[in-house]
Amino acid sequence: MQLNLSDETPPAGYERLLFVEDKTSGLRAYICIHSTACGPAAGGCRMWNYASQSEARADVLRLAEGMTSKNAVAGLGLGGGKSVIIGNAASDKSEALFRAFGKAVNSLQGQYYTAEDVGISPDDMAMIAQMTPFAVGLDHGDHGSGDPSPFTAEGVFQCLKVGAAEVFSSGDLTGRKVLVQGLGHVGMSLAEKLHQAGAELIVSDINADAIAQAQARFGASVCAPEAVFETDMDIFAPCALGGVLTHETARRLTARLVCGAANNQLATPDVAETLRARNIHYLPDYVVNAGGIISVAGEIHQAGPEYRQARLAGVAERIQQILIASRETGKTTTCVADEMVASIIADARAQQAGAA
Ligand code: NAD
Repeated sequence: MQLNLSDETPPAGYERLLFVEDKTSGLRAYICIHSTACGPAAGGCRMWNYASQSEARADVLRLAEGMTSKNAVAGLGLGGGKSVIIGNAASDKSEALFRAFGKAVNSLQGQYYTAEDVGISPDDMAMIAQMTPFAVGLDHGDHGSGDPSPFTAEGVFQCLKVGAAEVFSSGDLTGRKVLVQGLGHVGMSLAEKLHQAGAELIVSDINADAIAQAQARFGASVCAPEAVFETDMDIFAPCALGGVLTHETARRLTARLVCGAANNQLATPDVAETLRARNIHYLPDYVVNAGGIISVAGEIHQAGPEYRQARLAGVAERIQQILIASRETGKTTTCVADEMVASIIADARAQQAGAA
């Protein structure tokens, strides 16, 4: 291992940006700590075939900041951070690469906890964990939390019911037309919950097997990926990619409620205004999809199942508060959520300053 760790100057508002290189294994990665105001930073590790180092840098900065918001609003006692490994998840993985990455995470001495994100499996995380205790989301061991997706789906489902109660004056989903975009780890689990709750499911995916499964198991009707914004629905649950809501798609969307797991659903923050102008209630993604990091936080804090259950219930309560505040103030739900985050972080900083 020839590990080289170089601190880069992060943008204003960020605490640390580390570029990691190991010539022996070919590892090239960024680790970013956005904020430790609320506690040690936590956020997944993504492996992606970035076109350039600067693209990876931009991604890690954006993702780390998002984790600060997500962890703060979920009340996890954790700050925000993220890491990205530059490489092809299908062909560039090796034990040496993950061990080198684990050593880099360990060098931060618990200021950053890593877990799975896109391109990283529990097996990869186990290799990272050979070099550091600050790797979580493990499939084994006394406190391993395993796959976070069922927790994410449960959180989304609870929020969706709260949103339905606000928009349709009833959280009863019987007969509600819900379009689930993306039937992956989270989307399929959410679809199952919606089916059990009596919703009329419409599903969309580029994976024919997933579609066939949803048709067979839930009697779902199918919508072609390009027809989502032409389809009649009550609720839209984006569980595939980020950036699906642009000004243009927001103008065509037939739903009155948006609640899904995908990160960064709004292509730009001001799409929230377009949605509100059309009286479409948007439930901020980083609040709604916190179930996964809640599961991981349970592992970090070595807490029992009651910790996860309480925090998951808290996610739906937060959404309720956000909807009420948005209704009363006329602000968008994203604006209310962002203000909530700012206030939680300011309180945490004041406490840190008081304790120092
Ligand atoms: P996944 O990779 O298991 O599933 C994604 C699904 O979307 C796949 O079935 C894929 O075929 C489908 N898809 C891709 N492009 C599509 C398109 N154009 N139209 C329709 N379907 C398309 O991912 P996941 O773990 O289920 O996560 C889903 C989303 O939720 C991601 O944005 C992820 O970042 C976010 N998220 C996941 C978790 C978690 O616990 N897994 C937590 C927070 C946020």
